[in-house]
Amino acid sequence: MAGPSKSLKPGKENSLKPSVLPEAPPYEHPPPYSARDPRKMAVRVQPTLELRWRMRDGSKEEALFATADIEPGTRLICETPVVAVTQTGETLGNVYSSFLTLSPSEQASIWDLKAGPAPPHLHAEAAFIDSLIRVYLDLYTKSQSQDLTPREQSVFDRLGPQLQHLCLAWRIAARFHLHRQCLLNIPLNQRYKIPPHVPLSGLFLTAARLTHSCMPNCFVAYNTQQNHVTVHATKAIKKGTLLTASIIGERIWYETAAARASLLRNAANIICLCEACGYDEKQFDADKRAAAKATFTMHEQQRRKLYLNIVYLSSTLTQMLCAANPFLMTCAGFMVHPDAYEAVEQKMAEDAQNDMEDANKKLIHTLQMLGMIGCADLEVVRWRNVQAAVLLDKLKKWNSAEESAMLALQITERCVGADGEEVAGLRGAVRSIDQKRRNQLMGLGQL
Ligand SMILES: [Zn+2]
Repeated sequence: MAGPSKSLKPGKENSLKPSVLPEAPPYEHPPPYSARDPRKMAVRVQPTLELRWRMRDGSKEEALFATADIEPGTRLICETPVVAVTQTGETLGNVYSSFLTLSPSEQASIWDLKAGPAPPHLHAEAAFIDSLIRVYLDLYTKSQSQDLTPREQSVFDRLGPQLQHLCLAWRIAARFHLHRQCLLNIPLNQRYKIPPHVPLSGLFLTAARLTHSCMPNCFVAYNTQQNHVTVHATKAIKKGTLLTASIIGERIWYETAAARASLLRNAANIICLCEACGYDEKQFDADKRAAAKATFTMHEQQRRKLYLNIVYLSSTLTQMLCAANPFLMTCAGFMVHPDAYEAVEQKMAEDAQNDMEDANKKLIHTLQMLGMIGCADLEVVRWRNVQAAVLLDKLKKWNSAEESAMLALQITERCVGADGEEVAGLRGAVRSIDQKRRNQLMGLGQL
């Protein structure tokens, strides 16, 4: 078990009161719709892409393709939402009324999007429309063979236009819900503080045309300060290549092909055709078939190992955090006789050192596997941050910590741009580690 960072000796400074737990800082949302002109943003957009129609699963859909060779880190898209709604008031009417305020070309662009399955929070409205359609059809059938009563005729006359309006609203909502983006960049446990009028999700007309892939070449991020969604190339992209992003977040890196297929079917009713999701067994060329099968098998194996690795890392890191917090330790039932404090403290410090060394090896392996399956987005940054700020920091390996923090910063800049919200914090982390390294060298008389 990992050891605590503070002394366990009894005393006033060690009083284990619940009040020692830090309070979450108050949530401050930026003014909504302070949209800035993309041309004036620090990172310029290089729209080296075009929209083309293509056939997929037997139906026609629009997709984005590179019109030139693209360098990693290139900002391809920067746009504001055309429709944005609040979660609490997110109904058919809200989306539809926003839709009606758009220009004819924007409306046409939304109609061209693929419609998705009904999201769970709109099931009640879908059932209501279904019941109205049944009543309307019953009345219509009756009217073909006999006269309707005056009351039935009145209901029939009113239901027609009402249903037309509701079905139109439903078809717009089916497109909005499949392609919308989250407009927040804050943890789930702080979202209850958001005022009810703040829009939580929005539709971006160009970014909505990205195709899903479990080996994506682009990264989509929303900047709450600037009310823009940005799309950056995470890899070198050849001219004519399909531009892709994940619609199931970081789960593409840890779930098997079968689990991803289920997630994608439920989320968007789509089948992913990327190399990690399968291969064509009817491929005529035996060499190509064998190579595709080997690629698919490698992706499956790496993702299974990755999943086990992150379960181990999450558990180990949680144990370390508990051990470093005296209050959490007493919650876990940790009891030490006062005479044995020093011996226990020393043993726990040794255990903690070993645990951190083991966790760091596991984390290096995790990063290698993420690299093998082509992950070059903020999921790498997440683990690099853990490595730099938690493990290498505690192990006092400042050179390695600085290297890891620098890599996290570079990957972040590539995914969200140098003006991205996350960048300032990461620059601060690099400076902080550099300062600790300098302090240590000065202590050793080497600087
Ligand atoms: Zn896939």
